[in-house]
Amino acid sequence: MSFSDLPVDVGPVYEGERIRSKQMYVELGGPKIEKHFELVKVRDVKKIKDGHVELHGPDLKDMEQGGRYPIGILVEVAGEQLEEDLEAVFERRIHEFCNFVNGIMHLNQRYTNWMRVSTTAYEKGFNSLELLGTILIRLFKAELPIIEKCQVTIYTDAKDIEEPYEMAMSTYEKRDERARGLHDEDVDMFYGCVLCQSFAPTHVCCITPDRTSLCGSINWFDARAAAKVDPKGPIFEVEPGECKHDVAGEYTGINEMMAKRSLGEIDRVYLYSAMEFPHTSCGCFEAVDFYIPEVNGHGIIDRNADTIAINGLAFSAMANQTGGGKQMPGFNGISLQYISSPKFQQYDAIEEGLDGGIYQTVWMNSGLKERVQEFLPEDVRDKIATEQDVSDINELKQWLEEKEHPVVQTWVEEEEEEYEEDEWESEGAMVPMGTQTMTVPGVGGAGGFKIILKNCKIHAEAVIIKRIDSKKKKKK
Ligand code: SF4
Repeated sequence: MSFSDLPVDVGPVYEGERIRSKQMYVELGGPKIEKHFELVKVRDVKKIKDGHVELHGPDLKDMEQGGRYPIGILVEVAGEQLEEDLEAVFERRIHEFCNFVNGIMHLNQRYTNWMRVSTTAYEKGFNSLELLGTILIRLFKAELPIIEKCQVTIYTDAKDIEEPYEMAMSTYEKRDERARGLHDEDVDMFYGCVLCQSFAPTHVCCITPDRTSLCGSINWFDARAAAKVDPKGPIFEVEPGECKHDVAGEYTGINEMMAKRSLGEIDRVYLYSAMEFPHTSCGCFEAVDFYIPEVNGHGIIDRNADTIAINGLAFSAMANQTGGGKQMPGFNGISLQYISSPKFQQYDAIEEGLDGGIYQTVWMNSGLKERVQEFLPEDVRDKIATEQDVSDINELKQWLEEKEHPVVQTWVEEEEEEYEEDEWESEGAMVPMGTQTMTVPGVGGAGGFKIILKNCKIHAEAVIIKRIDSKKKKKK
């Protein structure tokens, strides 16, 4: 396969290229554009004009420099061995293949796809989206030889994109609905995916029926189909092995696979916890589940949120903290589909005496809450606040008490404590055993939480104790 006839280079070496707003010629899709998508459909071989690229709407050369436009990418493929279950897996490769192009940055997937074309690429002659279509066709056929024929249609016009956008949304929903009927205990094989290791080298997605990949685009059925046609590819089988903890979702097979695929970085994962041995996150997650210590609850903000979260942080700020392939207790990249699973973060909730993770969820951005509304149990649905109900942690606390949110029962009364010293310091202090306490202020200055270290040994050069005003008895 050659790209020497094209004005820009194409290859895996360009994955990870960042194009800042000052360097971009145009932006396609992304959070500021209402309708955009990317979709792969398997078609009858007779319906595909192999190598054909069609464009509906303005081309790059007709676009205004610095402008933002819709983008719809429909890739239609045919081949004797192809089946519908492979569509989602092929679709995820659009992200990778677009990033192979020197001068294109592609983020996310499905209806959150977001691209930038650099001014440098445009000036070199990359001035038509037909070139992008040609590149996609060549890469799909070269990298996935079971694809025999491929055609691409690209939409950039706000009106023309409407119909294919609706088709894409109903395809995503159909895939998700099918996956919702299956649970982890119903299957004897899980799957792993390392497609995002070019961005987050220690990240591995564990794909089980209850835990759709965190990008939201590969469910258990899709992963099964991918592993079947390409067992040595980036999506592979994982024998669950022994279930060591069914509430936490700890499996020996998952732990062993993680240790191997994360190059020894991570060797223990609780599939259903955001707080202990949480699943790693790359950067493509649909939403972030974050712990709110002041109320012992969790919030969820999705990628499309146009508000800051209740902890005072925007999605992008939390995404930076969450992603990168590390285990980050308290910050977990998740798919929207996982929120509908009865196993959603169940370990954390059950440890607190609650019925399930959704009963520990206290805040969502309103757009997300609307999207997942039908999956929220009736007895908690109206008790989960959004930015339209509360604007800070104190208001959230009040809301939860008024609504009698189940999380309130987990709040504990703090003992009144008196500190006698103003400040006390000891050189070379050794605090040998016992229980140590420290307070950490809450985000935005509200509340705070206490860390208690039980039976610890601490050696320090010096210990400084400062007065804390704790005259009043207060709730968490
Ligand atoms: S987020 Fe996970 S499942 Fe999705 S492409 Fe990346 S590694 Fe694969």
